[in-house]
Amino acid sequence: MKTLDTLTFDNRFARLGDSFSTEVLPEPIAEPRLVVVSQDALALLDLDPQEAQREVFADLFSGNQLWSDAEPRAMVYSGHQFGGYSPRLGDGRGLLLGEVLNHAGEHWDLHLKGAGLTPYSRMGDGRAVLRSSIREFLASEALHALGIPSSRALCVTGSSTPVWREKQETAAMLVRLAQSHVRFGSFEYFYYTRQHDQLKQLADHVLACHYPECLQQPQPYEALFRSVLERNAELIARWQAYGFCHGVMNTDNMSILGITFDFGPYAFLDDFDANHICNHSDDTGRYSFSNQVPIAHWNLSALAQALTPLIEVDKLKEILELFLPLYQAHYDDLMRKRLGFTTAEDGDEELIQRLLTLMQAGKSTDYHLFFRHLGEQAPADALQVVRNDFVDLQGFDAWGADYLARSNREGSDQAARQARMHAVNPLYVLRNYLAQEAIAAAERGDYAPVRELHEVLSRPFEQQAGKERYALRPPDWGKHLEISCSS
Ligand code: AMP
Ligand code: MG
Repeated sequence: MKTLDTLTFDNRFARLGDSFSTEVLPEPIAEPRLVVVSQDALALLDLDPQEAQREVFADLFSGNQLWSDAEPRAMVYSGHQFGGYSPRLGDGRGLLLGEVLNHAGEHWDLHLKGAGLTPYSRMGDGRAVLRSSIREFLASEALHALGIPSSRALCVTGSSTPVWREKQETAAMLVRLAQSHVRFGSFEYFYYTRQHDQLKQLADHVLACHYPECLQQPQPYEALFRSVLERNAELIARWQAYGFCHGVMNTDNMSILGITFDFGPYAFLDDFDANHICNHSDDTGRYSFSNQVPIAHWNLSALAQALTPLIEVDKLKEILELFLPLYQAHYDDLMRKRLGFTTAEDGDEELIQRLLTLMQAGKSTDYHLFFRHLGEQAPADALQVVRNDFVDLQGFDAWGADYLARSNREGSDQAARQARMHAVNPLYVLRNYLAQEAIAAAERGDYAPVRELHEVLSRPFEQQAGKERYALRPPDWGKHLEISCSS
């Protein structure tokens, strides 16, 4: 176990030099106070949980005090935003403080989001507000608990520093952990500025630090692109299977590790709606729920373009072709599990699609509770319960008959089926209204609700005594919240 004084830093990205990032000191926030902390994330750094009780904790994780071995730097990148190329983005309000090396030999980036102005701040103020910091914190940890790869969140620190958005709010700092903060847009930056030596240096860094197995392949860069694509196919399959809508899939928000990254106006679906658009400034629905699949593919093409100095175009095209079949295989696999199947049958894909079409037609089926309830009783009884949420009852009964026949072919007893299904179908989901309630309390200085929500979501599959209200269907007002895109 480490203390705050004994963390080991090994700042590999900083050593790449000034072409990749710029040294910047964090700008302190006034009266830092710890809002919420993730014990699971502390463990990634080998930090003793007791350390969060120390006063210096909030000072260090709000950038008001620095470790002597930290080397705070703003990373440069660019990216395609809503389809158009933005030549220079970079960390406009985030700083990579350094990389903490844990006992398992893993390096974890300590990234401070909301740390003040950098050379990449453009028109922004370099700050993050409490509201958006809490949203990112909750989502990172909730996704992780659901088994969906994500950047992690160590803690949120609030302050009395005023920040202007639509109204006056207060500045907060989020400490984000990830094994890398390199994005698709990092490669695009060096490609479009024709810095091909740096492009190669970045690819070599990512290979050595994050994809060492690709170095054993005859063509390491090809193997790297293929691995990034494979991880993204699996990630997007998980988003689609669990109803997660990212909202801003710009290439600067796509991690080279294939993890969920950079949280804005994200949402988990409540009632199933494939066309759901969670980002209210996304007028054309470019990042709607169902578009996440083609958009991920599009983003991988943008990355492929940036890698053309390292990999032959024909090879890149060949690898890109793998995306959709890989995605589909992962998605089908996840959905079979969610439906309680342990085997694969030819008709499964159609059965899944018919179910979603029925949900879509009614827009009255809670996407998460449907699966949870389906596992709660034997198939025939469970179907009678979930049936009530469908509008096309005839259609649902026809589907139900086929589902029943399919389930009977599985032949497992109900106790085993329930255990299997409950292990993949969460009871607790980060619904927008739950986040909003916790944020409203935190803005009043009451951090208990956000801490409790985080706690509940860290064990989403386990029924927790006294936490029934978190498992309810959202109230009508809670389904149609307009979440501010400002952050
Ligand atoms: P995002 O939409 O959060 O992915 O941010 C896109 C770009 O804008 C990134 O380069 C951010 O660093 C930058 N950015 C967002 N908000 C601010 C802010 N308040 N101050 C400075 N830069 C910002
Ligand atoms: Mg971003």
